[in-house]
Amino acid sequence: MKISRIDHVGIAVRSLEEALKFYEGVLGIKASGEEEVPEQLVRTAFLPVGDSEIELLASTSPEGPIARFIEKRGEGIQHIALRVDNIEAALERLKAAGVRLLDEVPRHGAGGARIAFLHPKATGGVLLELTERA
Ligand code: ZN
Repeated sequence: MKISRIDHVGIAVRSLEEALKFYEGVLGIKASGEEEVPEQLVRTAFLPVGDSEIELLASTSPEGPIARFIEKRGEGIQHIALRVDNIEAALERLKAAGVRLLDEVPRHGAGGARIAFLHPKATGGVLLELTERA
């Protein structure tokens, strides 16, 4: 398994528009685009910072995982994504090592990425995402 960088840090926010006032307006990081990911009931904005990005996540439904996260813990860092070159190989390696996974099979994420989440109980309490980009 080869992890090349932190692909992005996912931050749960109540409103993309409000969050962008700070990230774009104050910090001056220009969003590279916004996208809705219907499977995850979320709208995202990606803000490139060097080799990594900040991913702002706002729920499109009160039932969505981001809405539930904010209800429990408030706005804040929701996950950290690690870039892998081969997500199937990475998942096989983790399964063989007995690591608890939330996704045994990759699914589609924002920006055409293929992603899979590891259970926070296996990672020191952090929701880790593996990201493979074409
Ligand atoms: Zn992510």
